[in-house]
Amino acid sequence: MISVYTAEWVLPMTGEPIHRGAIAIDGGVVVGVNDRAPADAVDLGSVAILPALVNAHTHLELSYLRGQIPRTEKFLDWIRTIMATRRQYPDASDRRILDAACAAIAEARASGTGLVGDISNTLVTTRLLRDAAMPAHVFYELLRFNASDPESMTREARAKADAAASGPQRRGPSGSAESDIRVSLAAHAPYSVSPALFAAIRADLDAHAGEVTSVHLGESPEEIEFIKRGTGPWRALLEELGVWTDQWEPPGTSPVEYLEQLGFLDRRVLAVHGVQFDGDDLDRLRARNMTIVSCPRSNQHVGVGAPPLEAFYAMDVKVAFGTDSLASAPDLNLFSELAEARRLAPRVAARALLESATCRGAAALGFGDDFGTIEGGKRAALIAVRMPAKVDDVEEYLLSGITPADVSWVS
Ligand SMILES: [Zn+2]
Repeated sequence: MISVYTAEWVLPMTGEPIHRGAIAIDGGVVVGVNDRAPADAVDLGSVAILPALVNAHTHLELSYLRGQIPRTEKFLDWIRTIMATRRQYPDASDRRILDAACAAIAEARASGTGLVGDISNTLVTTRLLRDAAMPAHVFYELLRFNASDPESMTREARAKADAAASGPQRRGPSGSAESDIRVSLAAHAPYSVSPALFAAIRADLDAHAGEVTSVHLGESPEEIEFIKRGTGPWRALLEELGVWTDQWEPPGTSPVEYLEQLGFLDRRVLAVHGVQFDGDDLDRLRARNMTIVSCPRSNQHVGVGAPPLEAFYAMDVKVAFGTDSLASAPDLNLFSELAEARRLAPRVAARALLESATCRGAAALGFGDDFGTIEGGKRAALIAVRMPAKVDDVEEYLLSGITPADVSWVS
């Protein structure tokens, strides 16, 4: 049965917001968007209907660390604190870890998120996401600075990823079977993954057409120093952990150039953070049609500074947004991330920021056929945001700090 909804505003994210537009839904799928509503449409009133938001970078398994890792001025201080705290919870299926992750998924949904990109070192979140019916791409993140046998490491990881991904499937638009919980391998960062392990992860990606992967890239000044010269706090920490190897030669480049030379980068690789990217890095990412996933609140919490968001957009690089984990963000409300992005990038068009939080994120995660815009054939994963009576610019209003109390789901 077809249901038709209308509201003060409809934001299809394929063009202009439509005043008093209408959306027709049949069996959970959008079957039409119109600029005029039929008389029998269900009127949702003074709300803006938009596609569910996409949180393209989080670590749900770290949700139990909420409020436990203080804001810092030095990234390595934050890393050391989080490593020490995680050691106190050695069991990945500790009830406290699972309960906090479940609550975080519910919190994300309540604030309008309908798709997540989740980083996991343990894969415990795949089952939680599936049970909560939260579509996700889970990145099974590997890190090993001196991996002796990276091929067997990725082989074993792939088997675990495939087992975690197996579950109920649905028919995709092309008729192929698709799961709402997809899993691929991912590399943590240039300072924690050996060149050989990067190569093995890339080989695994090449063997799986259509999959996407992710890497933390250009996050801290300490990373820049380490990749350029092999010195600084990262070198000290690797030595302290007993994983430093003299066989590792400092690339002498930027992290982006380093991974490019390793043959790791292309449009299927999400570059997370990019706080330290310069114009040359952005040129390289644009040339490869890559997406940066920006997490501005987290960046400032962990002491690496604010991302150069205006440069990302000015250089025409694709941008998606993530909250990062609750170990470095106060909540998983992507609208709060958008408000911070607006504060940092006052000259970027409101629609461009909203696209980052919807269609850009969906496409980067490989879910662009189903999520990110309101148009025929896509899933009716739609949210309604309550609006005050008089709003001149609905897109700008959505960047002003929407709270979960203003958000409801259209179904
Ligand atoms: Zn992260």
